[in-house]
Amino acid sequence: MAGLVAAARARELGLDVAVHEKGTRVGGSMLLSSCVIWRHREWDDFRGECPTGDARLQRVVWERLDDAIAWLESLGAPVVWDETGNPRTAGKRFDPRGLASVLADAAGDITMSSDGTDGEGATILCTGGFQGDADLVAEHIAPAAPLRLRANPWSRGDGLRRGLRDGAGASPGLHEFYGRNMPDADFRDDEFVSGAQLYGRFARVFNERGDEFFEGEVSWSENDLVQATAHQPNARAWYVLDDAALDHRVRERTVADMVAAASTAVDPARLPFAAPPGARVAVRVSPGITHTIGGIHVDERARVLRPDGSPVEGLYAAGADAGGIAAGGYASGLAAALVLGLVAAETASGAI
Ligand SMILES: Cc1cc2nc3c(=O)[nH]c(=O)nc-3n(C[C@H](O)[C@H](O)[C@H](O)COP(=O)(O)OP(=O)(O)OC[C@H]3O[C@@H](n4cnc5c(N)ncnc54)[C@H](O)[C@@H]3O)c2cc1C
Repeated sequence: MAGLVAAARARELGLDVAVHEKGTRVGGSMLLSSCVIWRHREWDDFRGECPTGDARLQRVVWERLDDAIAWLESLGAPVVWDETGNPRTAGKRFDPRGLASVLADAAGDITMSSDGTDGEGATILCTGGFQGDADLVAEHIAPAAPLRLRANPWSRGDGLRRGLRDGAGASPGLHEFYGRNMPDADFRDDEFVSGAQLYGRFARVFNERGDEFFEGEVSWSENDLVQATAHQPNARAWYVLDDAALDHRVRERTVADMVAAASTAVDPARLPFAAPPGARVAVRVSPGITHTIGGIHVDERARVLRPDGSPVEGLYAAGADAGGIAAGGYASGLAAALVLGLVAAETASGAI
């Protein structure tokens, strides 16, 4: 998302652009996503829900997103929903294939299966984070067991490594990630959305030892619960549901629909600990990691910063490589990639 946007905008501003895509197709994780590009409706909600995030970057995303979405539409990107369907948020849902295709056309020639992080000249790092590198995940996020990947397979921290090599500082939130609790079994990329078990807030949640480990209320995004699950024994949890819980709706599905999609749903009698009264079904879940939240430290012009705050000449980062925007919570990764992608191109061209 960030790379195609940055390339399209840079060409629009008259720059010569070489686009490198390490994978065998364009679109990265954006192509696999639900493609809802959104911001919190209220600025205070953004700060409140991502309290340790970089407020300057959050402000840029929040203020520029509506115009950025209009820019996507001006390129011909196909809108599927005019609203997000969530009263807390504003934004639009795009068709991911249509969006990738429109952006790829606007980005110009793309060199496929090519690592772009050793490029010369002004370089915009947008490799999508480090969730695909199990060693980096173990080092920085330190889950209790390896996490299954719920993202494109090529985002393996190349941008972060290049940034660090050139003296970049790390952003806030390097130990955080965005993900979904999924059935604790292997899954394909066409099951990333349908398999998500997004009802932890209606369940009793236990770890394998039978402890109810999550304290307080689970947030609407459930990203707090997913991250807490990563630190439980074997990075697993059990969602235990009664009849009332099964009737709740989350967007277009009921909880019962989501349970039906889980291959790890069992009779509560088969739990490794005593089932709570009224339990109807139990689902064993583990976190699928979608993208890292921390990464390279950038300023509000997408310039890569050293630990002392000075910019690294000619080096920019956007998307999940530009860390710290959603630290402490969860915010739209596509919105951040879109806005910082535009900003990086505009800074590199001298337009801002
Ligand atoms: C199932 C799913 C649902 C999601 N739903 C939503 C949603 O509804 N709303 C939302 O806001 N977000 C959603 N997301 C998250 C969203 O997709 C990401 O936040 C967004 O794609 C991040 O943009 P990016 O440009 O940083 O990374 P990507 O879009 O993943 O792009 C990174 C690209 O870099 C390439 N790359 C990696 N290394 C190199 C290298 N060395 N050289 C060259 N290229 C390289 C990768 O192959 C990839 O094409 C979802 C993600 C998934 C997987």
